Amino acid sequence: MGFKTTKNVQTSPADLLISRLDRVQHRGNGRWLACCPAHGDRSPSLSIREQSDGTLLVHCFAGCPTDAVVEAVGLELGDLFPDQPAERSPLRPGERWVPRDVLKAVAHEALVALVAVESAHRGEPLDKADRDRLATAAGRLRAAVREVA
Ligand SMILES: [Zn+2]
Repeated sequence: MGFKTTKNVQTSPADLLISRLDRVQHRGNGRWLACCPAHGDRSPSLSIREQSDGTLLVHCFAGCPTDAVVEAVGLELGDLFPDQPAERSPLRPGERWVPRDVLKAVAHEALVALVAVESAHRGEPLDKADRDRLATAAGRLRAAVREVA
């Protein structure tokens, strides 16, 4: 039902991940179940949900952290987000962020927070990696404020 932009012609996060998983069951409406690649999964216990913006929410009911799941199939967390801003290397002394870069980074960190909030809303506890990632997001947002201040 959501408006899908056609501007982005790259493979969607869903296409990328689903094609690498076994015993995928499409549950309709942007939802799938599959065998978790991060543990010896015999009956599908990995839930995958596509948000309207293309972001994938991944949850293993056996408790595998999301980063372990994506790494098991050769992907990384960033692959769960559409049109991810390129990772920046740390700025050299005297080098400055331009506002567009700061805004792109802020938008991306907001997505990270959204994924965490969605997960918590469904009653799924955030694991240590998730909490660490949120702390990183908070740190990057504070750094962004300093950059534009
Ligand atoms: Zn698992």
